Amino acid sequence: MFRTKYFLNPETLLFEKVRLPLRVKIRNGIICVVALLGIAAGGRLLLDKKFDSPRIKYFTERNAELRGTYEQLNDSINAAEMLLADIQLRDDEMYRSVFDMKPIPSSVREAGFGGSENYEGMLFSHNEKIVSNTARKLEKLSTKARIQSKSLEDLYVKAREQQAFISHKPSIQPLSPGDRYWLTSTFGYRRDPFTGAKRMHAGLDMAGNVGLKVYATGDGVVTIARLSLYGYGREIELDHGFGYATRYGHLSKILVTKGEKVKRGQLIGELGSTGRSTGPHLHYEVRYHHKPLNPLYYFYENLSANEFDKITAQVNN
Ligand SMILES: [Zn+2]
Repeated sequence: MFRTKYFLNPETLLFEKVRLPLRVKIRNGIICVVALLGIAAGGRLLLDKKFDSPRIKYFTERNAELRGTYEQLNDSINAAEMLLADIQLRDDEMYRSVFDMKPIPSSVREAGFGGSENYEGMLFSHNEKIVSNTARKLEKLSTKARIQSKSLEDLYVKAREQQAFISHKPSIQPLSPGDRYWLTSTFGYRRDPFTGAKRMHAGLDMAGNVGLKVYATGDGVVTIARLSLYGYGREIELDHGFGYATRYGHLSKILVTKGEKVKRGQLIGELGSTGRSTGPHLHYEVRYHHKPLNPLYYFYENLSANEFDKITAQVNN
């Protein structure tokens, strides 16, 4: 690299090689190495600026992929949030109001979502921000979903209760509208047919032929099935729960036993004239928390003979 230098030797008159001292040789060597390293580093720097190294290229691509994945994830969460919001709206506006339940206040639905404190420590670059936002959204979504799920569970319980209430509450007449019967005495004060004194009549008297079928007017349990020698003669009492009870008096036959569970429309006895009775009839009572009510108000379902038969056929096959 260094060109060899010559000088004219005055003694020999010949050109001879200049001999450099060792110190100078070492210095030249070091300069040479440093220069080479400098050129190599400069070249690398230039190359890196113009073309990414394979490692950098790999990570840049992975980074872009991950960001894409997070963006997709965010879109999915947004879609799920919209779906949930729709369910919440239906829950508050329709389902809960059907059962007279108040809407869930937004303070409860949004419970615990003030800021992003939990993730603040994680924020040190743009990418971490995306990750923490996604994590926060997901946590918010799952909490909202938990609240919604609890609400639907409450609704389910309420619906079952309501269903049980509907099937237990006395709401049909105890005789089939297809059978011939007529009302001989209504609910309220009347002259006692035996003494002539004014007395409260706590039920409805439905006269018809002996042997006419008598049906349970709601689901319940038989609490009384006996022949009392006075008053109602052969009588049945049903406990329907929810505070309701019914009594069927003056029967000729009792077809159920105490403790038996009965369904609405189930055949429980036959019309008769036992006990304190002036002629064949059914004495029918409806009581709510022991207080007698007018049974006519509990023939809710204004059933035709056909419809009545359908109900009784279901439970008496
Ligand atoms: Zn009566």
